[in-house]
Amino acid sequence: MSVQQEAGADTEALEVWIDQDLCTGDGICVQYAPEVFELDIDGLAYVKGAEDELLQDRGATTPVPLPLLTDVVDSAKECPGECIHVRRVSDRAEVYGPNAE
Ligand code: SF4
Repeated sequence: MSVQQEAGADTEALEVWIDQDLCTGDGICVQYAPEVFELDIDGLAYVKGAEDELLQDRGATTPVPLPLLTDVVDSAKECPGECIHVRRVSDRAEVYGPNAE
């Protein structure tokens, strides 16, 4: 199933957050989407804000830019900690990640 067919994700604003409690710090997400994810000095991955700043609050969310959607979805699929969550902004329903239907 393509990205477009799943949950109508091409038309909905999406955001992504990381559950740092489960992050293994392997950095796969940073390899896939360095514009969105970064490892902090604690060895765990965090999302970045619109100004490229690291959002160091655990569970912070950031918008998923459409051109980066595939990279972010691949990150969520490959994340060994199963701790990358992509959800719709409108109803906070998870569309990619361990809790997606
Ligand atoms: S891929 Fe998952 S487990 Fe690995 S650093 Fe990123 S968030 Fe953490």
